[in-house]
Amino acid sequence: EASIREKLIEAHELTAKFYHYLLMNTTHGQPAMQYLRSRGVTDKQIDQFMIGYAPPEWDTLTRFLEKREFKADLMEKGGLLVAKHDGSGYIDRFRDRIMFPIWNRDGKTIALAGRMLGEGQPKYLNSPETMLFNKSRNFYNFHHARPTMRKSRRIILFEGYMDVIKAWSAGVSNGVATMGTALTEEHAAVLQRNVDEAILCYDGDNAGQAAVLKSIPILEKVGLRVQVAMLPKGMDPDDFIEQYGPNTFLQDTIEHPVSVTKFKLIYTKKSHILLEEEGQKNYLLEAVGIVAELESPTEREFHLKELSREFDISLESLKQDCFQHRQQLQ
Ligand code: ATP
Ligand code: MN
Ligand code: MN
Ligand code: MN
Repeated sequence: EASIREKLIEAHELTAKFYHYLLMNTTHGQPAMQYLRSRGVTDKQIDQFMIGYAPPEWDTLTRFLEKREFKADLMEKGGLLVAKHDGSGYIDRFRDRIMFPIWNRDGKTIALAGRMLGEGQPKYLNSPETMLFNKSRNFYNFHHARPTMRKSRRIILFEGYMDVIKAWSAGVSNGVATMGTALTEEHAAVLQRNVDEAILCYDGDNAGQAAVLKSIPILEKVGLRVQVAMLPKGMDPDDFIEQYGPNTFLQDTIEHPVSVTKFKLIYTKKSHILLEEEGQKNYLLEAVGIVAELESPTEREFHLKELSREFDISLESLKQDCFQHRQQLQ
């Protein structure tokens, strides 16, 4: 078992290096290189994250591994190869994709993710779950992020590979991402052992904001302090950095996260039509319900005062509604 693990890690390390080489040093890698350039990815980033390219042929990696005497059935179990339907052999899992190696906490390559050059489905293809790779526990970039994470006791959570990479170059050296899965309780347990605080910096689209809402209680449950770094509508960290630059990204988002309550209020607000009186009332009642969940009277008053000013409703009425909500909570 231990030697099988080692063999699989060795194969992944070699594969990552092979794909990186193909991207950097061969004409086969040119379109991929161009694609990366068009997205503002630098040589330094390609190097630091060992980005590579899997060529379009069916058997480039299959033959590469065969020559080095890795057993094809083991490579299939490790997720690098796929068995042909008719049982006549194996083919490469990743073809014509930009490749991102995925490391474990010791920096050993344990899986890969591949992105299409341009549009199409599936946009990202990840290694399957294997004896090395557990999607519910592993984070992308964890081993790079670990020193800063432990020193600052803080982690920044992103949704995507590109977000982590671009943010890293912007100076965010404690950023990680989950991979093709929502944040799990197991993820939270890993974080809880390393940090006290998590900042969620997910995409500014509906899916991203809904994922923030779902992740908050999972992180809070293990005792982490949570804040939310928000992005303009429809933008993700990668887009934002490309458009406005790293400094604006740091100043406008990472360095000025909002509280969980503030985030919930902003999120809820979007589902009400505030131009209509009915919409205003419904929002206010929901908002007061959110504030009611806070244990600190000071914090509750802080938010109620803001609502009071914003909608010109007396603090007294809001407090009464809030009090009723709290009684229902007990
Ligand atoms: P890009 O900037 O390259 O378009 P992204 O990270 O912005 O990628 P999103 O659509 O925002 O892509 O998705 C966020 C993350 O979710 C991805 O980085 C990837 O880990 C995962 N993901 C997206 N699409 C898929 C898919 N079809 N299969 C598996 N995982 C996916
Ligand atoms: Mn998204
Ligand atoms: Mn995105
Ligand atoms: Mn993106």
